[in-house]
Amino acid sequence: SLTEKLQNIFKILRSKGRLTEDDVKEALKEIKRALLAADVNFKVVKGFVKNVQERAVGQDVMNGLNPGQMVIKIVNEELVKLMGSETTEIKLQPGSAVTVIMMAGLQGAGKTTTTAKLAGKYKLKGKKPLLAACDVYRPAAIKQLQVNGEKQGVDVFSMGDSHKPADIAKAAVLHAQKNGNNIVILDTAGRLHIDEDMMAELQEIKGAVDVHQTILVIDAMTGQDAVNVAADFNDKIGIDGVIVTKLDGDTRGGAALSVKAVTGKPILYAGMGEKLSDLEQFYPDRMASRILGMGDVLTLIEKAEAEIDEAKAIEMSRKLKKAQFDFEDYLESTKQMKNMGGLGNIMNMMPGLGGMGKMKGLDDEQAAQAEKNMARMEAMIYSMTLEERRNPDLLNPSRKHRIAKGAGVDISDVNRMVKQFGEMKKMMKMMGKGGKKGKFRLPF
Ligand code: GDP
Ligand code: MG
Repeated sequence: SLTEKLQNIFKILRSKGRLTEDDVKEALKEIKRALLAADVNFKVVKGFVKNVQERAVGQDVMNGLNPGQMVIKIVNEELVKLMGSETTEIKLQPGSAVTVIMMAGLQGAGKTTTTAKLAGKYKLKGKKPLLAACDVYRPAAIKQLQVNGEKQGVDVFSMGDSHKPADIAKAAVLHAQKNGNNIVILDTAGRLHIDEDMMAELQEIKGAVDVHQTILVIDAMTGQDAVNVAADFNDKIGIDGVIVTKLDGDTRGGAALSVKAVTGKPILYAGMGEKLSDLEQFYPDRMASRILGMGDVLTLIEKAEAEIDEAKAIEMSRKLKKAQFDFEDYLESTKQMKNMGGLGNIMNMMPGLGGMGKMKGLDDEQAAQAEKNMARMEAMIYSMTLEERRNPDLLNPSRKHRIAKGAGVDISDVNRMVKQFGEMKKMMKMMGKGGKKGKFRLPF
């Protein structure tokens, strides 16, 4: 399996103390082979390997990890990215408005089963779903939905098999509005292959009722085909998200890995068995660790990351409280800030941080200006000796003069910076007393 193959590759990597570029190249070749064998889309594999390679070369090895583990960390992160990083929810209409969800997919993909599974989830959340039997080609399909709906204790709407699916959908939505159902899930008919009639029928349903979410159900066991099907459905009727079923079986997992990259649409849920409770929210990070099958290594990596962050955060907040914050700390915190995506980004992430009201709502231009100022400040700090950075009080006129020359700025700039730094420290001392805790470290 993919997991076994990856585990073998990583075992070799981990057994080496130092990795040469050739080691990494060789490992990546193996990873590429393993992904292709697992039915991951060729283009997706190519892009993936390129990303990993670019990051693996010239990357500093983190404390507490060896180079092999570092490569695993990168592969893991890229896998998560590939699957969309974030967990995506099915978007419901606001308030008490009825949300109409249309299930689409080939025959046997798992639409009817998943419809009932989803209904169970919504019922648990206090919603009142209505399942609509729009597959009129097989009498057994209507019965199947009724039986599953009953098992879940949710309402099922059907009009037999002598009406058009679009008309049934319309009637179902009216029924829902009358009966206080706030979610309607349309269980539609599939075909064995992509088929014009099927697409036309789905279009017709979309024309007859306001479909808010079109969810494509694909069978993980069909590998690459599942992804081609997804791309086709997305082109022809437009989908909002995908549910991958039968991930419990001995699947190669390739479909789950490529769907997002190929269609741009997220995986919402994963079907993990035939039972109606076997539907799991899709977490890209959990799926990645499952594929890597390296719980232990990933935990170690997380721990190493957490330790570094925590040690730094503790030290920084200790200094803040005592207002011992010096220029070295400033450099460290700007580094972390850059990692977090720059000043503008950070300001957006912390609404209403006490004392910083003025900085809120920084527009792009202001953020750019602030970042320019910071870069200048950094240049000046780099022109200081270590001693000066640690003890700003040392900065007498002749030292300031030297620093100005080194940084290519005016001595008045150095003076202003030192003054601002002193004010910042005062402000931080006040905030420290206010007891603002948390992981966030101030960038200045
Ligand atoms: P539809 O034709 O798309 O409506 O597919 P069905 O809902 O009738 O499902 C087809 C078959 O797949 C049934 O036997 C289901 O029990 C089975 N099935 C659906 N989802 C899953 C899943 O997540 N795991 C497994 N193992 N079987 C599933
Ligand atoms: Mg069905």
